[in-house]
Amino acid sequence: MWERALAKLRHSTTDYAYDNWITQIVQLGHDGSTLTLGVPNYFVRDWIVLYYADLVRRAVHSVAGEPVAIEFVIDESRKSGAQPPVSGSPPQDDQVVIAEVEAANGRTKLSDRFTFENFVVGPSNQLAAAAAAAVADNPGKQYNPLFIYGGTGLGKTHLLHAIGNRIRARDPKLRVVYLSAEQFLNEFVVLLKRGQMEEFRRRYREGVDVLMMDDIQVLKKAQETQNEFFHTFNDLHDSGRAIILTSDIHPNELPNIESRLRTRFTSGLTADVYEPPFEVRIAIIKRKAEQEGVNLPDDVAQFVASKVTRSVRDLEGALTRLAAHATLTGRALSTAYAEEVLRDMLPQRQALSIEHVQKVVAKYFGMTVDDLRGEKRIRPIANARSVAMYFCRKLISDASFPIIGTAFGDKHHTTVMAAVERVSQKRDKDTALARELEELERQING
Ligand code: ADP
Ligand code: MG
Repeated sequence: MWERALAKLRHSTTDYAYDNWITQIVQLGHDGSTLTLGVPNYFVRDWIVLYYADLVRRAVHSVAGEPVAIEFVIDESRKSGAQPPVSGSPPQDDQVVIAEVEAANGRTKLSDRFTFENFVVGPSNQLAAAAAAAVADNPGKQYNPLFIYGGTGLGKTHLLHAIGNRIRARDPKLRVVYLSAEQFLNEFVVLLKRGQMEEFRRRYREGVDVLMMDDIQVLKKAQETQNEFFHTFNDLHDSGRAIILTSDIHPNELPNIESRLRTRFTSGLTADVYEPPFEVRIAIIKRKAEQEGVNLPDDVAQFVASKVTRSVRDLEGALTRLAAHATLTGRALSTAYAEEVLRDMLPQRQALSIEHVQKVVAKYFGMTVDDLRGEKRIRPIANARSVAMYFCRKLISDASFPIIGTAFGDKHHTTVMAAVERVSQKRDKDTALARELEELERQING
């Protein structure tokens, strides 16, 4: 099985990957559903699991004609410490990795765009921002480690850079190291392979006052590196150096992270960042527009902030795109224009159902769906019913007046038409109502 998979891999990987890594894999067993593959040691396994597992899985799958579980184990018979790769000449790519890592160790990789001043604080990131500022002011003294976690594009990396920038500005003597866990892992594997572990350890355990490691969830794939990181962490921590980490999920939710490491992660302060609320999204996009010198009218800012909700990175992307189009075409920014330009970026409106609209509207007005579908004519219920009909008509393209009537307890379609018309007219005259309808629409779309 593995022989045939190898033949496939020969063509689907680079020569470098094939000669140095793939050829180190041998088949140890195959019991139908599981293929057991042997590798000479842990670091080769970490590396393969991290970079080549998918390729290997696909190759095996394609020769077997069905998915096969793959297990990488250390092949004891070949275990003889950190062997250099089998092929002759020293691999070029390692040099590249090392060069990159060393450039990073030039320790200048902090972006000056990412500062506390440029970071908009709101309820979704307040704790993380305050803790980051505290650590920047007093590195190693409190909240050690600081562990920031949350979804992608929500400002974790920005905060790390902000910490680093502030510490460097205050005290240029402090050795501040910022790197991703993936860089750490690369460097570890490369130096281990070259037998330069002493150098690696010196670099991290002695050469650092502030260690900021981004996206440490990557370590879940690399057990041997976790072990090394554990010791690095302890050395730094015990000697009062500051450690700041980020991850896309809470440390306790990280799969395959050793529990002793998890305990360390949560021994300081954990702070999360989550999706910013509407007001904060507006503030962020306005701030960015100002920075970039883009003339962004309020209604366009609101439009973009109401459509791009999940990540600040996407919010920035939307603004960049708008600004570029506006510059190229010489048109002023308007919501209609924004809608056109951002169309393929915006989430496809998921098909809304009449039931959904009824539920959200009923909840909003504090009544039940049955009230909306029923016959009661008292003012608040009748009004809410009209509003629900109005939104069905507005937001659901295939909801005709008769269909809506049926869904509201068999009302006549002219009743629906009248209700929708009434709401539209009132909305145009009454700005308070208009604003309320906007909010309600957001909830329906949410
Ligand atoms: P993460 O590391 O959480 O994936 P980043 O820190 O890379 O996210 O943030 C993505 C982009 O959004 C960056 O350009 C960053 O400057 C910006 N950003 C995120 N949060 C904020 C905020 N609260 N204020 C200003 N800019 C922000
Ligand atoms: Mg990041």
